[in-house]
Amino acid sequence: MKKLFAILVSALLILVIVLVIKTLTYPFAKLSDNQPEPAKVAISEKSISRFAKGVQFATISYIDSAENNFSVYDSFRLYVRNAFPNVFKQLHDTLINKHQWLLHWKGKNASLKPILFMSHYDVVAPGSSDPKDWKYGPFLGILADGRIQGRGTIDMKSVAFALLESADTLLASGFIPERDIYIALDPDEEVGGIRGAEKLAIYLKEKGLFFETIYDEGGIVATPGTAEGINQNIAFVGMGEKGVVGYRIKVKGLGGHSSMPPLESAAGRAAVIMQRLEKNQLPQRLIEPTENFLKVAGAGMGFMGKMAIANQWLLKSLLLKQMEKNPQANALTRTTTAITMLKGSDGNNVLAPEVEVVINFRILPGETSKDVLAHIQNACKGYEVEIDAPRIPVEPSKISPANGRGFEMIKESVEKLYPGTLVTPYLTIGATDCKHMGDLSDHIYRFMPVLLNPAEQRSIHNFNEYMSIENYARMIAHYSYLMKNFDTKH
Ligand SMILES: [Zn+2]
Repeated sequence: MKKLFAILVSALLILVIVLVIKTLTYPFAKLSDNQPEPAKVAISEKSISRFAKGVQFATISYIDSAENNFSVYDSFRLYVRNAFPNVFKQLHDTLINKHQWLLHWKGKNASLKPILFMSHYDVVAPGSSDPKDWKYGPFLGILADGRIQGRGTIDMKSVAFALLESADTLLASGFIPERDIYIALDPDEEVGGIRGAEKLAIYLKEKGLFFETIYDEGGIVATPGTAEGINQNIAFVGMGEKGVVGYRIKVKGLGGHSSMPPLESAAGRAAVIMQRLEKNQLPQRLIEPTENFLKVAGAGMGFMGKMAIANQWLLKSLLLKQMEKNPQANALTRTTTAITMLKGSDGNNVLAPEVEVVINFRILPGETSKDVLAHIQNACKGYEVEIDAPRIPVEPSKISPANGRGFEMIKESVEKLYPGTLVTPYLTIGATDCKHMGDLSDHIYRFMPVLLNPAEQRSIHNFNEYMSIENYARMIAHYSYLMKNFDTKH
């Protein structure tokens, strides 16, 4: 008995030693308590005003495109063309499907795969133009408080103008890129890219193009404190993005008067199905960008958190349970289930013969909308239902690798512009236009080189959106660096 006890104790001791050693040797990011200031980058008055004037065009995109004022799109493009005469003299530009704009800058070496920079010039509606909500108006393009104010200043006319500024400056210096550079300015990212990026992808495929790297939005540099225990900036680079599908379930039952109801109503059945779907969600998984992100986030955690990350061979389920409790972390680990719409009877005393439930799923890369459908069918077992997807599902993207020139370029540039920043691969939760580009490159990165505090992050798609001049100057420097140095040998 004593011997058995001794064996157990030593086994436990060995286990603890293994856990501790694995924790201490795990490749967590090296943290520093000192966050240096970002680089100061010079910017001309002309660059600032070219961008600010571009904000004045209310290029709002609506789900129902009949609501769009396309003449504003036309005048915006005319404005841009006149604002950057040299760019449009030297780059070839094409208009696809009326409003999708593509610029082509020919490089020296046609045998190299080109790179594509993507931005969109549509914006979401301002929600209000009340001065109480928008201190400087959504479409006045005012320069105030050291910032360019208005809708689209972050998301994402800034990138469109920064790309044009970069090309303009490089052209003026006589620079010719090694490989071809393409710049896409999309007209309907905010409503899914059906008229823009989707058509662009078809056009590029027909041309037989395949890109070395594609850059789009979908990550930012976040200020210290974004992750617990980390007093440094974190640059989140989206390596992939989740898909989205809304399924509508029509649950059948017996309608009629409420005075003689059946024992089980359609609404009651729908409730059971909803409970099943919430209680038994699609399984959690750790995909590569999230594993890489945990190396950074884990560095700021206490020893127990670090131990769970470093010892997934034993503690993975514990780690996933912990992540599940936080909605943001949960979204990184699974296809999420959000019951968003319900429709039943309109009358107090009327039984609905059919109850409609709409559930919005954000699909984790590795699963498809078909997997989600099978999951729903399983949850509906025993009931008569009809299931459909009112809008075309968007499948999740592929995951781009955390190495190679395209990714290294982002790291190099961030180190120069935002010294002391931790760069981490990440999964972009929202959708971007490059979801349409999956067949056009194996290296697609979603990242906007701006340092945003939590309030600035919340201003996206909200009131009082602005871009600080410092951020805009660094944005131009970032894209200039990428265009200029992609093929510089190190
Ligand atoms: Zn955007």
